[in-house]
Amino acid sequence: MKIRRGDNVIVLSGKDKGRRGEVVRALPKEGRVVVEGVNRVKRHQRTTQVRQRAGIIDKDLPVAASKVALICPKEHTPTRVSYSFAEDGTKQRVCARCGEAL
Ligand SMILES: [Zn+2]
Repeated sequence: MKIRRGDNVIVLSGKDKGRRGEVVRALPKEGRVVVEGVNRVKRHQRTTQVRQRAGIIDKDLPVAASKVALICPKEHTPTRVSYSFAEDGTKQRVCARCGEAL
């Protein structure tokens, strides 16, 4: 999976299409990501022994990583991710369009 925590992404489809946000959690095993403000739902919580407050809270549910695109920090536009090797031989993520390291 090419999306990581801390990435700024744009949603490509669904009800949050066009919305931008930061990845707060990456779930590589599921191929999903949690993006700030995306797929936000209301959850009704009751009081438990550990949680004293009941009420309605906002919660962001995971979305498929294939439905979001990384925003290049240099160009500020959605892009694809490719990989290359740095001079010291380490693998790095780069913007598929401008080659900026991510
Ligand atoms: Zn770029």
